[in-house]
Amino acid sequence: MTDNAIEISKLRKIYKGSGTTGDKLALNDIDLIVPRGSMFGLLGPNGAGKSTTINILAGLVNKTSGDASIWGFDIVDNPRNARANIGVVPQELLFDAFFTPAEMLDVQAGMYGVPKAERRTEELLKAVHLWDQRDAYARTLSGGMKRRLLIAKSMVHNPPVLILDEPTAGVDIELRQQLWEYVRMLHARGTTIVLTTHYLEEAEELCDTIAIINHGEVVCSEPTSKLLARIDEKEIIVDIAEAQGSLPKSLTGFHAEMRGTNQIVIKINQSGNGVGPVLEALVTAKLTINDISTDETDLEDIFLQLTSNKMGSDTDSDTAA
Ligand code: ADP
Repeated sequence: MTDNAIEISKLRKIYKGSGTTGDKLALNDIDLIVPRGSMFGLLGPNGAGKSTTINILAGLVNKTSGDASIWGFDIVDNPRNARANIGVVPQELLFDAFFTPAEMLDVQAGMYGVPKAERRTEELLKAVHLWDQRDAYARTLSGGMKRRLLIAKSMVHNPPVLILDEPTAGVDIELRQQLWEYVRMLHARGTTIVLTTHYLEEAEELCDTIAIINHGEVVCSEPTSKLLARIDEKEIIVDIAEAQGSLPKSLTGFHAEMRGTNQIVIKINQSGNGVGPVLEALVTAKLTINDISTDETDLEDIFLQLTSNKMGSDTDSDTAA
């Protein structure tokens, strides 16, 4: 048995075009591992391939090639077991308007073959603060209530892995807090959580591991603390009077580079030695300094850095199989 909740290996998806539209390479042989018990953030700009990945895991989209398994069960060789081990909260708020929350959970539990005696309708509806609305028609629920109902619905079969696709998009702050409170509780009880979100701060605060995906490729997948250590970096930009052909010798031990002939950019780790040694090295180099400025990076910068170096267009250039 593997220690991973989800294992994805060389997963590829090409959406076949029709007539005038070309084929679309949505996932380019991605590898991704979600450890059991983690709170995993899957981030990426629009069109990166997040939903495609989730939909393949959920059995809603067929992969082109590669492998994926959930809780050790291959999604193709063992689809029933694979599906029994995940709950997916979709982005869209699609409901049959004439079902009540209680009926909806019951129908869903029936679909998963959960025996009546083991159904947890009351517990789930209470957990998402919808017990009072249990007999109301779904169409009368607010957007936030519907979102919570979807979470309850995805949990009827008590899956060890819960995937939330943009669960708080367009949801007000108070409700977001409530949702996260519930998700945190599930996580504390042992559920592995995978979430996609546009809100970087949300991912930073909630997730212990973050993967960033861009143009169908995984550009990083690492513990949040490690990712944030990159953010710990700060740039010192030094404008110098005399043009330099190369980096002054005293700066060779630093993460420093020339930008043109009259600017030196030095990266420092703020929790490391700080600016002192850099200033000493600049003095040693006997440069005439016109100006010094600093540039701090944040998660947004890291995200942009990691997602902007392959700005291939969304056109047919990346459709080759
Ligand atoms: P994300 O969820 O990160 O926004 P998606 O997985 O939805 O990204 O999309 C990845 C790429 O695949 C995008 O270029 C998108 O246009 C394309 N795509 C998604 N679904 C389809 C589809 N059903 N048919 C054709 N192309 C699709």
